[in-house]
Amino acid sequence: MSDITTTDLVAMFDAIGAMIEANKGHLCELDGVIGDADHGVTMSIGFTAVGLALADLDTATADPTAVFNTAAKSFLNAVGASSGPLYATAFMRAGAAVKGKPVLDRDAMVDAVAALAKGIQDRGKATRGEKTMVDAWLPGAEAAEAARAEGQPLAACLDAAAKAATEGAESTKAMLASKGRASRLGERSLGHMDPGAASAALMLKVMADHFAR
Ligand code: ADP
Ligand code: MG
Ligand code: MG
Repeated sequence: MSDITTTDLVAMFDAIGAMIEANKGHLCELDGVIGDADHGVTMSIGFTAVGLALADLDTATADPTAVFNTAAKSFLNAVGASSGPLYATAFMRAGAAVKGKPVLDRDAMVDAVAALAKGIQDRGKATRGEKTMVDAWLPGAEAAEAARAEGQPLAACLDAAAKAATEGAESTKAMLASKGRASRLGERSLGHMDPGAASAALMLKVMADHFAR
């Protein structure tokens, strides 16, 4: 596929926002079981703010880093929940990973996904197996990097990431939460999917679908 432009990236964020709106109730339901039932709402507030901020961006002069930085800033300002600073750091890191690039090729986009995942891990200090969004983002990023190392095109890299993240989110059902709100539940968190991991897998799926060309 051709390189990802600033306009493509803005459209990707809009597609993520639309997916969040469609899954708002589902994400709140998941959070209702092991958290405070607001994950769909917090993500909706965040991506609505991102969409409005990106609509104001001059795509003729803004580079991909500016898109990620704008997303980071607006998400942070809009979201008070724990996902606010996590995704703000993630998008900042993604922007830093592609700094100076006018468009994103496969390598840059996979680097952005990897930086995003690492940003969440660094900001939240969760490791794999603690029943958080890290359990979807990290395997997702690793799968994208592995597909790239095999010489696969971007669409296949993102597809691999989405599949691994979906499996990762599924695997959180068997995990005991030790980070975030759900950690207060102890064993009662067992058997339920982490809402942040669920939304992370959906985000990667949107990215894969968006660039499947
Ligand atoms: P809040 O818990 O403040 O209501 P949300 O409901 O928006 O925030 O997000 C909850 C999600 O945030 C959890 O399902 C989990 O995936 C993620 N999360 C919470 N704490 C951490 C952390 N320290 N590191 C990574 N992810 C975390
Ligand atoms: Mg919540
Ligand atoms: Mg909350």
